[in-house]
Amino acid sequence: MVRQGKAAWLAHDLTHRGVTAWLLTGLLVAFYLLLYSTEVFARAARAIGLDSRWTLYGILYSLAILAGGVYVLRKYRHNRYQVVRTAVVMFVQVVFAFLVPEILKFFHQPEYYFSYFWPLKLDDFVPGTIFRLPLAYVLYSFIGSLLLVPLLGTLVGKRWYCSWVCGCGGLANTAGDPLRHLTSKSSAAWKFEKVSIHVVLAICLLLTALLFLAWGWGARAPELARFTHAFETAYAFLVVAMLSGVVGAGLYPVGGTRIWCRNFCPMAALLGLVQKAGRFRIAVKRNMCISCGLCSKYCEMGIDVRAYAQANSSFTRAACVGCGLCAEVCPRGVLRLENARSRPAPEPALVRISTV
Ligand code: SF4
Ligand code: SF4
Repeated sequence: MVRQGKAAWLAHDLTHRGVTAWLLTGLLVAFYLLLYSTEVFARAARAIGLDSRWTLYGILYSLAILAGGVYVLRKYRHNRYQVVRTAVVMFVQVVFAFLVPEILKFFHQPEYYFSYFWPLKLDDFVPGTIFRLPLAYVLYSFIGSLLLVPLLGTLVGKRWYCSWVCGCGGLANTAGDPLRHLTSKSSAAWKFEKVSIHVVLAICLLLTALLFLAWGWGARAPELARFTHAFETAYAFLVVAMLSGVVGAGLYPVGGTRIWCRNFCPMAALLGLVQKAGRFRIAVKRNMCISCGLCSKYCEMGIDVRAYAQANSSFTRAACVGCGLCAEVCPRGVLRLENARSRPAPEPALVRISTV
C-alpha cells in the first residue's frame, strides 16, 4: 500500500509540475544541450560501435516512441482511431525515420528520410543538397513537398502529417501522453503562438529562397553565398537545435508536449493554413455539452474546445493536429473528427470565439 502511495505521488508530481517534473526538465534540457553542443554523445556512440551521435539519438528516440506507444495502445485500446493512429506513428518512426536511413547508410547509399518533407526538412528540397541525390529521391522530395503534403492537408487536415507521420508528433502522442494537459490555455499563449509560428515560417521561406539563389548565383556573388551559409547555420542552431530540441522536447514535463508543433514548426504553420481552407473539421453535436471542460483540458494545442461545444459550433482551427483526444475524453460523445464535404456557415457565436 505504501509503495502504491509513493508511486501515485511520483506520477502526480511528474505530471503536475512538481519537483520531479522540474528535475526531469533539467535532465532533458541538459541532454539536448550536450547532444547539440558537445562531443559527449559522439564519443558515447563510438564507444558502443555506432557511427554517429545521430544514430544513438535515433535509437533512443525510437525506443521512447515504442515504449510510449505500447502505453498509449493499452490506455486507448477501446478507441479504433487512437489504436490505428498510434500503431502507424510507431511504424513510421521505426521504419522510415530510423531503419531505412540506417540500412541505406550500411549499403553506402545516400541517407534519406522518407517521412520528412520541406519545410520541415530543408535539405531534402533545396538544390544544393537534393540534386546530389538520385533522381527518384529528387522526385519524391518535390512531389511530396509540393503536392502530397498540401493535397492531403486539404482533404483530411494537418493530422495526416502532425499526428500520423511526424516523429515530433509521434513522441508527443506516445511518451508525452501523460503530459498533454500541461499545454497553456491562456490567451497570452495563443497570441504568442499566432505570431511565433508564422515568423518561423516566414524565416524558413526566406532561407529557402536564399538557398535557391545562392545555388544559382553563389559562384558569381560570393557575399550572397557567405550570407546564406551564415543564415543557414543560425537557423540550424536556433530553430532546429534550440527550439525543436532544447525547448520543444526538453520542456515537456513543465510546458506540455507540443511546444514546438504549436509555436515554431514551419510545417505545422503551412499545414495549418491549408487546413483552414480544406475539409477537416471537428463536428459538434448540438445541445449535448455539459461544460465539463475535459476536451479543453486535454487538448495538446491549447484550443478552447469547450467554447465551441457550448456554442454548438463545428470548427476548424489551424492549430488543431487532429489527435482526436478531445473526442476521446468527452463523456457525452459531443465531438467528432470529420472531413466535411461542405463547410457550414459560421454561427454568430463563432465571431467571438473563432481564432487561428
Ligand atoms: S482540438 Fe481535439 S483533435 Fe484538435 S488538437 Fe485539440 S484535442 Fe486534438
Ligand atoms: S468534454 Fe464534451 S461535454 Fe465536456 S465540455 Fe467538452 S464537449 Fe462539452
